[in-house]
Amino acid sequence: MERIILLCMVSTCVSAVHAQKFLFSPKWGPIGYKAREEAEDGTAMDKIIKANEFQASRVIDGTTTLREGDIAVTSGRRSKVCFARSCLWSKSVDGHVYIAYKLSEDYTDLETKVIKKGMENIEKGTCVRFVPRTHQRDYVDIQPKSGCWSYLGARGGKQTVSLQSPDCLQVGVIAHEFMHALGFVHEQSRFDRDNYVTIMWPNIWRDRLRNFEKFRTESLDLPYDYGSIMHFGKFAYSQDGQPTIIPKNSKDIKLGQASSLSHIDKLKINKLYQCGDTDDY
Ligand SMILES: [Zn+2]
Repeated sequence: MERIILLCMVSTCVSAVHAQKFLFSPKWGPIGYKAREEAEDGTAMDKIIKANEFQASRVIDGTTTLREGDIAVTSGRRSKVCFARSCLWSKSVDGHVYIAYKLSEDYTDLETKVIKKGMENIEKGTCVRFVPRTHQRDYVDIQPKSGCWSYLGARGGKQTVSLQSPDCLQVGVIAHEFMHALGFVHEQSRFDRDNYVTIMWPNIWRDRLRNFEKFRTESLDLPYDYGSIMHFGKFAYSQDGQPTIIPKNSKDIKLGQASSLSHIDKLKINKLYQCGDTDDY
């Protein structure tokens, strides 16, 4: 059965409504923001936000922008909408999904090692395998550009994954960006997220309300994963140090993940790519 996936770029307009509501809020700046980002229990996304907000412009270049904080979107002809299976990497006859990569020569040996650890984190328990590019047409070009970001899903041809040194060179951050390249959006962007978390709109840095939009996603019959490497932390884009995402029912649940894919993240990959159980890998 052909699975309709994941990623329509059709998002709801919830945040637009809220943007209006808080347009004249006096609390507009990222007050207390930096202190929170430096907390030790930060998630992979906290590190990404820190790198991207303080060192990279939101606009990467004239035609490419970041949405949701770290997903690159190019306007114009190549801004294809990812839907159905159109943005999946192809699967080999041996059952693996091989992702060819090219690593910038600007990385040191040590940095290269960390990036490979990020790849291994994705590979362990999934059918994905990263292979150095030889002749493959489709591949990820890993570059220390400004900030940590990736395109969503396979775009065809060369696609950049930016891992700036040193801020993005942490296993969790690297794995998070590769998850985007595999076709996954942030966990709290799931269409059904309002059943599981409450978005605290008044606490969000006003300019970043759009980062909390929902996507029309396919949940792959997997439970909402509070501990996903793709989940924003509780204080993501907080303007005043107050939480921006609160789990429903139990406030003690930790959101996000610092350095490794969750078990469900791995199941997600295998389900999306129809690879069977983690035990097989
Ligand atoms: Zn992300």
